[in-house]
Amino acid sequence: MSRILVIEDESAIADAVLYALRAEAYSVEHVLLGREGLRRLREEGFDLVVLDVGLPDLGGFDLCRELRTFSQVPVIFLTARDGEIDRVLGLELGADDYMAKPFSPRELVARVRARLRRVGAPAAETGNWRQQGAFAHDSAGQRIRYGAQELALTRYEYRLLAALLARPGAILSREQLMADVWRDAPETFDRTVDTHIKTLRTKLHAIDPQRDPIQTHRGMGYSLKP
Ligand code: CA
Repeated sequence: MSRILVIEDESAIADAVLYALRAEAYSVEHVLLGREGLRRLREEGFDLVVLDVGLPDLGGFDLCRELRTFSQVPVIFLTARDGEIDRVLGLELGADDYMAKPFSPRELVARVRARLRRVGAPAAETGNWRQQGAFAHDSAGQRIRYGAQELALTRYEYRLLAALLARPGAILSREQLMADVWRDAPETFDRTVDTHIKTLRTKLHAIDPQRDPIQTHRGMGYSLKP
């Protein structure tokens, strides 16, 4: 059974999250403060963290930075303001996903499930995989494989790679990618695209150091050669 730590100081939100996760038979612990959460994370094993950005003692960003010095446990941020979303996206904090408040607990549960599935065993032989060169894409399951391995992608990394895969060889500008991939985050900057291209390249490179399927076209955008 997967163990989840919820770090959230607003009881009403925490209660809804705990209820939804426990209904899915996850083992869920809850703490109200950042330092307490960090202590628990140092001492116990958790499979995933749901982390509020606005905590009264130690903010979610600082907590995550500290957490990354000793653990790669997946983190899903809960954010309250647009400005916070920009920071989640912009500052490569090693967050795996975020939910903007107000959010539906059911949607959070779906994200948690997707996240835990990606950390788990190699890709199950289910789903509708479409092979494109070295890539295989299961668009219904929102998963992409590279070589024999399923990629552990954040939501926006997934969308970005899917957008490039949808038009292999075509040069897509940053503006096109922002409109397509970040359609629900209108306050996105050019550098957010570049940051995500960089993290995608790192993940692809870790699997096959010989190839760089994403090409940069200076002043024009990016393309992908599957
Ligand atoms: Ca809060």
